[in-house]
Amino acid sequence: MINVLKFGGTSLADAKRIIFVSNIIEEKSKINKISVVLSAPATITNSLEKIIQLCLLKDKNYKKEIQNIKNKFDLIVKNIYKNNKNFLFKKIIKKINHEILFLKNTSKKIYLLNKCSKHIFAKVISRGEILSTQIMKQILLSKGHNITLINPVKKILAEGNILDAYVNINKSIKKIQKIKFKKNSIILMPGFIAGNKKKELVILGRNGSDYSAAILSACIKAQSCEIWTDVDGILTCDPKIFSNAKIIKKISYKNVTEISNLGAKVLHPKTIYPLKKFKIPCYIKNTFNKNFIGTKISNYSNKKIQNIYPNIAYIKNVTIFIIKTLNQRNINKIYKNLLKINKKESIILFFSINFIHRQSINIYVNNIHFEKVNFIIKKLIFNKKETYKKKIYKKISIISIIKPKLYQNKKIIQNIYQILYDLNIKTMYDIKNFSKNSISLIIKSKYKNKIINLLHKKIINNYKIIQIFLFGIGGIGQTLLKQINQEKKSLKKKNIIIKICLISNSNKILFQEKGIKINSWKEKFHTIKKKYFQEKFLINKIKKIIKKNNFINPSIVDCTSSKKISKEYLYFIKNKFNIITANKKFNTGNITDYKNIRKKININNKKFFYETNVGGGLPVIQTIQNLKQTGDKLINFKGILSGSLSFIFGKLEQKILFSDAIKQAKEKGLTEPDPREDLSGLDVARKLLIIAREFGYSLELKDIQIKKILPQLCNSNSTVQKFLKETKKFNKYFLNKIKSAKKNNKKIKFIAKISNKGKCTVQIEEVDKKDPLYEIKNGENALSFYTKYYQPIPLVIRGYGAGKKVTASGVLSDLLKTIV
Ligand code: ASP
Repeated sequence: MINVLKFGGTSLADAKRIIFVSNIIEEKSKINKISVVLSAPATITNSLEKIIQLCLLKDKNYKKEIQNIKNKFDLIVKNIYKNNKNFLFKKIIKKINHEILFLKNTSKKIYLLNKCSKHIFAKVISRGEILSTQIMKQILLSKGHNITLINPVKKILAEGNILDAYVNINKSIKKIQKIKFKKNSIILMPGFIAGNKKKELVILGRNGSDYSAAILSACIKAQSCEIWTDVDGILTCDPKIFSNAKIIKKISYKNVTEISNLGAKVLHPKTIYPLKKFKIPCYIKNTFNKNFIGTKISNYSNKKIQNIYPNIAYIKNVTIFIIKTLNQRNINKIYKNLLKINKKESIILFFSINFIHRQSINIYVNNIHFEKVNFIIKKLIFNKKETYKKKIYKKISIISIIKPKLYQNKKIIQNIYQILYDLNIKTMYDIKNFSKNSISLIIKSKYKNKIINLLHKKIINNYKIIQIFLFGIGGIGQTLLKQINQEKKSLKKKNIIIKICLISNSNKILFQEKGIKINSWKEKFHTIKKKYFQEKFLINKIKKIIKKNNFINPSIVDCTSSKKISKEYLYFIKNKFNIITANKKFNTGNITDYKNIRKKININNKKFFYETNVGGGLPVIQTIQNLKQTGDKLINFKGILSGSLSFIFGKLEQKILFSDAIKQAKEKGLTEPDPREDLSGLDVARKLLIIAREFGYSLELKDIQIKKILPQLCNSNSTVQKFLKETKKFNKYFLNKIKSAKKNNKKIKFIAKISNKGKCTVQIEEVDKKDPLYEIKNGENALSFYTKYYQPIPLVIRGYGAGKKVTASGVLSDLLKTIV
């Protein structure tokens, strides 16, 4: 039994890592016979390729690049020698110098001739593998191991493109079988390289040493093939773009092929075929986390495993060529020709033909092949009499969402469209189904990271995201932030993520697209300079923020008491925001605006919630809407809608003087800073108007009749302190009122009413024991609805109707209703 281990460039980036890898090899060789395939140390292949490019550009800096490579290898071997005096330092330096001399001579020729054949190219860019294998050989020899070195140019037979060759496995098996392996030896082979029929060196395509490992595994009938890299295994997404990507522990060959073809940088796509054919399981392991189990790729037929490999893969740097012509047959011809060329050269990623609207073909190409494909297309459409139109779009990315049976899952597809809609990405070119299990989005590359992040969160992790602009950071706003912070963990368990993107009061804006940390928002907010005393500037700044950024399922939360923000509700709706408001100003403004916003909300498919407008956190609006939806009709309504007045009138019943009751209510924070605002009855009138409008009455605030609580006007200009003293003069008036009510076994309350003809009044009334409002005191609210269905006993909602906590929780509950 033999195992194949392949180590990639990052695992071999410097001396320390190479020594670490040699230790893994030693450890493993104690358990099993092993074969090792090595890449070049990280960045070396790119540098080698750069040398050729510089030479062709007649840029003498190629010499510097050669020197850099020499320095890098010299440093590696020097540091290995420091650690291990048995390491034959001089011997390996000789080998390095030999390869460097080859590079110098060859590049000079390329520079002078301004030409580089594919053979020379292949030879130059494979030097990294040759040297890393030599270094590893010397390390292992120095530790007393026997080594058998396989020369892939002689033993692995490849065909096709010299720079992207395919291996003939059967013939290679025969060649490898002829090797006489030294006894108890570790087998070493440089990856990336093979030989053609003429015994010339060819390469297997960039990142091709995975393929080398798979080929060697097939040739020696390995028990397993381990690919050692710098990540924990196959992830659900590139962790550089989405840091919370998850490991896929088991995956079938078929599924891995699918995600590799769509761009996931897991394995070189050619790697899977030989492993699958010879049924060799493959493990992806992390050199820097060597005990982690990693990902196992095998021939899983188990449905469960087949179904858990969601992935977001991407191909960046894509160019799209769009060719249009009026004749459908011409498109077919072009397609067939390109297909033929592509079979030989593999330079095209995908085609898509559109016969429905126009006769056109889209050709998706990796940018590195741009010139070549452009040339081929020019030749194909040149000389033709018909007119062709060619369009080129550059800087494109193809993002693919891969999930089993994706094409059947309408919800996911809806979600994908919703994300694109929310992000307002108008530059989207195409959405394609490349297989039953995948959908690919063709987008401008600049949106790539943002879309991948969102797709992962929403489609793979199934997160529901709410982004908030919070206006007003008084009692309710601040309590809301606290509650969101407290609930963060439990919401996350339900896959809900609330992000506060903007916090603003009338003169400052704190904005962070990725979300403001709630624990430290106050400090940050205080350090911002006050800028926006004029509402125009504040709103303009916010509009600029909205224009520049894309938000996902955003809501504004209006916890202010002014009209500044509510004047802009329509703007927010048009820009895809939901509106959550604790502020009554909009819903009590003119009825035309009131009706218009509801239309716009429907057209834009957004949400407008204002449950806290009446009764704090009590479910009032929701209940009315439910009644209406089920065909119920209001006969009449009666309610106590003010927490402060409920408290004050409750105290009066306990024989507490009016002036003392007001003081107590104020001390408890139940009244507005100026209690005259509560006593004016205007706030209750606003709430009543909102209820009446909800039932369909087209009323304005002036239509609500308010009978003042206080029998005569106090000096409205006096200070609050003075006013509180003045209230003593009303004590007697209220004592009398209570006395006369008591005579009839009644109590006085401040009642808001809607008659069966829709007349709305707000006034002090006597209520008897049978009335559900009789017992209401201590700041409670109560609302009783006599309706077609709820009579003779009315539907009653009762509970605390004011206070920061209940109101903020009402706002939060509205917010959670915006989840899509
Ligand atoms: N060194 C080669 C490259 O960077 C092959 C490999 O690492 O797989 O493309």
